[in-house]
Amino acid sequence: MKIISTALEMQQAALALRAQGKRIGFVPTMGNLHDGHLSLVRLAKQRADVVVVSIFVNPTQFGPNEDFAAYPRTFAADRALCEQEGVDFVFYPAVPEMYPDGASVSVTENALSRTLCGAARPGHFDGVCTVVAKLFNVVLPHVAVFGEKDGQQLRIIRRMVRDLRFPVEIVSGPTVRESDGLAKSSRNQYLTAEQRPQAVCLRRALDEAERLFAAGERDPQTLVAALRALIGKSPSAKIDYAEIVDDETLQPLAGPIARPAFVALAVWVGKPRLIDNTVLRP
Ligand code: AMP
Repeated sequence: MKIISTALEMQQAALALRAQGKRIGFVPTMGNLHDGHLSLVRLAKQRADVVVVSIFVNPTQFGPNEDFAAYPRTFAADRALCEQEGVDFVFYPAVPEMYPDGASVSVTENALSRTLCGAARPGHFDGVCTVVAKLFNVVLPHVAVFGEKDGQQLRIIRRMVRDLRFPVEIVSGPTVRESDGLAKSSRNQYLTAEQRPQAVCLRRALDEAERLFAAGERDPQTLVAALRALIGKSPSAKIDYAEIVDDETLQPLAGPIARPAFVALAVWVGKPRLIDNTVLRP
C-alpha cells in the first residue's frame, strides 16, 4: 500500500494506472475509519482493479461552530485498516494541498442542497461538492463509492457528476449499523454511556415509519408525527429535523406519498448530532 500526500503525485499515479488500462475505484473519507467505510472499500474492490482511499478532514464542510478542530484524526489506525482491507493507495493530503493559498473556486449545487442538512448547516454541501470535485480531479477514478447513510450527500454528488459531466460512476453502499441498529459514525464516540442506548431512537423511528407505511399509511404528516413521537421518548434526544420529502427533488411532499419518499432525520443526542434515513417506495 502506498501513501501519497501531494495532489501531483496522486494524479501521476492515477494517470500511470489508467495508461496500463487499470480501473480505479475510489472511497473518499474523513478518516477515523469504521466498518461503514470498510464496507465501501469492499464494494470498490469488487468494481475496480485498484482502490484509492482518501483521508482528509475537509475544513470547508464544517460550519464555524462545528467540530472541525475536534474531529477525530486517527491516521495510524486508519492506515492499518486500509492495509488489512487490501487498499492500494491512501491519499492523505494536508489542507494547503487541497486549498492552496488564495483558493477562490468552489462548487455549489443549488437545488438538492437547499433542504434538510443544507438548511441546517449553511455552506456544508458547497464544501462537500468542492472537495469531492477536487478529489475526482486528483484521483481520476472510474468509480467512486459513497454511503447511503449520508443520503442527501449521495444525491447531491450524483447531481454534481451529472451536471458537471464528471466521467465517474457513482456507486452507493448500504448503511452499516451497530447490533442495536445505530448507524456507525465517527461521532458516536461522543455519546455518553447514558446517551448511547437512546441513540437507537433514530433507527427505531425509521422502523416505525416503515411499519406504518407497509400497513398502508401514505400521509406524510401522520408519518412525521410518528417519527417525532418515537424520538420524543428518548429524554436526551433533540430533533434538528424529521422530514419526509420527495426522493428525487428532496422537496416537501404536497400530498399523500405516491412516489419514492426520502425519510430523513437529524437528531442531537447529547453532544453529537446524528443522522439517519430510509426510503419509502409505494
Ligand atoms: P465520512 O468519513 O464521514 O466523510 O464518510 C465517508 C464515507 O463513508 C461517506 O460516503 C459516508 O456516507 C460513508 N459512511 C459513513 N458511515 C457509514 C455507515 N455507517 N455505513 C456506510 N457508509 C458510511
